[in-house]
Amino acid sequence: MRIGLTGGIGSGKSTVAGFWLEAGASLIDTDAISRQLTAPGGPALPALAAEFGPAMVSTEEGLVRSAMRALVFSDPAARQRLEAILHPMISAETARAEAAADSDLIVFDVPLLVESGRWRQRLDRVLVVDCPEALQIERVMQRSALSREAVQAVLQAQATRAQRRACADALIHNEGLSLDALRGQVLTLARHWRPTK
Ligand code: ADP
Repeated sequence: MRIGLTGGIGSGKSTVAGFWLEAGASLIDTDAISRQLTAPGGPALPALAAEFGPAMVSTEEGLVRSAMRALVFSDPAARQRLEAILHPMISAETARAEAAADSDLIVFDVPLLVESGRWRQRLDRVLVVDCPEALQIERVMQRSALSREAVQAVLQAQATRAQRRACADALIHNEGLSLDALRGQVLTLARHWRPTK
């Protein structure tokens, strides 16, 4: 059973991912895979340097994220060129992690599942973690040094709650829930979705 887990920033997605581990699922963090590919010495760096020039890659930083972010923000074609390099590598790494997983319940943590479109066909179920935007903003401001405006800018760049909900096979409404209640919802869902042998 392949489950895609997604949610906007501050929705509680990572917290939910942790509860899936408690439920015995294997967790594949696609964001971490993407970071490893572009970290210093990462396997995506030669192709990125060839495509975008050597200044986009440094020994200390790997992919120079600030420069790449500025480029793709102003140039949608550059974003496509970046994705054309990274997406196949992420797919290959994800497939490797899936083959090595030791549970028949595999949870893919995919922040931009709804935005990217290419994920849905690889999944049996999509679980969306949702909460009001005001609560997203409050949570992110509490855990980071980001200003309200900065968090709002991230929200603007992500799919809307309605777009995410439209993709969901199940939805966790993470508002007014204690962490224990949240854990309980995940464990119940895991019982429902665990493949029967
Ligand atoms: P995301 O991965 O979606 O950005 P996180 O799982 O990191 O969000 O959650 C953001 C913050 O909110 C974390 O500090 C987390 O502990 C807290 N949080 C999330 N859900 C709850 C909840 N139901 N009760 C209390 N704190 C929560």
